[in-house]
Amino acid sequence: MLHKSLLAARLAHLGTENAFRVGDDIARVTPLLAARGLDVVRLNLGEPDFDSAPHINEAACAEIRGGNSHYTGPQGILSLRVAIADHVVRTRGLLVDPAQVVVTTGEKPSIAFTMQAYVNPGDEVIYPSPGSPIYESWVTYVGGVPVPLPLREETGFTFTADDLASRITPRTKVIILCSPSNPTGGVLTQGELAAVAGAIRDRCRPDVRVYSDEIYEHIVFDGAQHRSIATEVGMADRTIIASGHSMGFAMTGWRLGWAVLPTVDEAAVFKELTINLVSCVPPFIQEAGRVALTSPASGVVIHQMVSAFEGRRDWVVDALNAIPGIRCQRPKGAFYVFPNVAGLCEQLGLLDAYEAMPPDLRAGTSPSRILQSYLLGTYGVATVDRNSFGRIGADGQHFLRLSIATSLERLRVGVERIARAVADAQRCA
Ligand code: PMP
Repeated sequence: MLHKSLLAARLAHLGTENAFRVGDDIARVTPLLAARGLDVVRLNLGEPDFDSAPHINEAACAEIRGGNSHYTGPQGILSLRVAIADHVVRTRGLLVDPAQVVVTTGEKPSIAFTMQAYVNPGDEVIYPSPGSPIYESWVTYVGGVPVPLPLREETGFTFTADDLASRITPRTKVIILCSPSNPTGGVLTQGELAAVAGAIRDRCRPDVRVYSDEIYEHIVFDGAQHRSIATEVGMADRTIIASGHSMGFAMTGWRLGWAVLPTVDEAAVFKELTINLVSCVPPFIQEAGRVALTSPASGVVIHQMVSAFEGRRDWVVDALNAIPGIRCQRPKGAFYVFPNVAGLCEQLGLLDAYEAMPPDLRAGTSPSRILQSYLLGTYGVATVDRNSFGRIGADGQHFLRLSIATSLERLRVGVERIARAVADAQRCA
C-alpha cells in the first residue's frame, strides 16, 4: 500500500477502465478453472477479434524499413490529416480544413485533451451513462462536475432532447455524446440527433463544446449509415469529432486516433497538449493509418468484419432473451450486447446479498459486479458489469456487457454456460 503522502491528491479523483482489469481477474482464475477442466470464454474484450489487414501492416513495415523512424510534426503528418479531412467529407458531408485535424495516440487522448482544454473546476460536463468510464474519470480528475445522462433501456439505450435539456445549466461546458455507443450498441437516429442539436442550440452558449465520440463509426448494422451530430445545423462550430482507427480498422494496439476541432485555433491547443504529452504519433503508424483510410482494400475488410458482428448479434440477442431472468435489446452498432440481468441477480439472491452487506463493502461493488465475478469464477465466462461504465447514478441498474468480438462458436459456449448458471440456480432454489 502506498503512503497517502506519497502521491498527489488529484489522483483520488482519477477513475479507471475495468475492462482492462478483468484481464488480471482472468489470469488469477484460469489455473483454478483449468483444474476443473474449464477454460475462460472471454466475452469481456473491448476490441475486434480481427487482426489489422495485411495491406495496412505492410505499409507500416515498409516505412520502418525505409527509415521513417524519427520524430514528426506533433499535429500529425499532413498527408494523414488530408486523408482524415477527406474521410470526414465523404462520410459526413462536412468540409474540414486539415489544419483543424489533430492526430492522437488512439482516440482516448482526445477525451483527456477536451477536459483539459475546456473544463475549469466547477464546470459541468454532461456525459452518457452507461458510457466509456474514461469520461467520468477525466471529468472528476480536472475538477469538473459530472452530470450523467442516463440512457434508457426501453428505447434501445437512447435519450431524448428533453432528457438532455433538463441537465443543461449555465455551468455546462462540455456535452459528451457517443453513437454508436459502448457499452450499449445504441445508435442515435437522424431525428434524435436533430432534436438533441436543437436543445443544444437553444440552451447552450456558443462556447459550450460537444465532444462527439464516433470511434465505432464504421460498425453500424442493418444497412444504416453513421451519422454525426456535427452535421446538424450550427453544430460543426461547436463539435469536436473524435474517432480513430482502433475499431473500424481493427487497429487497437497501434494507438492511432484523430480529432476534428471546430476551429484551427482549438486544434493548435490539442497540438500543444500533444507536444507536452507524447511529442508526436509514430510516423510509420500514421503512414499506415493513411493507407487504411485511402486504400479500396479497407472497405472490403471492414464490410466482412461488420457482417460477422451483425450475424453474431442476431444469434446472441435471441439466445440471451431465451434465458429466464435476462432481457437483451438488439444493438444497432458497435460490438457489444448489454443485457438487463436484474432477474438473474434476483434468482441468484444477489440483490438480497448485496443489501445485507455492510455499507463500506457495498460501496465497492454492486449486484451486477458480484454476478460478473460469479460467472467468471464459477462458469469461466468473462463479462463486464454495469458500474464499469460510469458509477455515478448507476445504483439499482443491473446489466452486463458481453462483447460479440469473439467467434460464434465461443459465443455459443459462453451463452450456454450462462444458461447453465441460471438452471443451476433454479435447481438450488
Ligand atoms: N471511446 C469509446 C466509446 C471506446 O469504447 C473506446 C475504447 N474502449 C475509446 C473511446 C478509446 O479508443 P482508443 O482505443 O482508440 O483510444
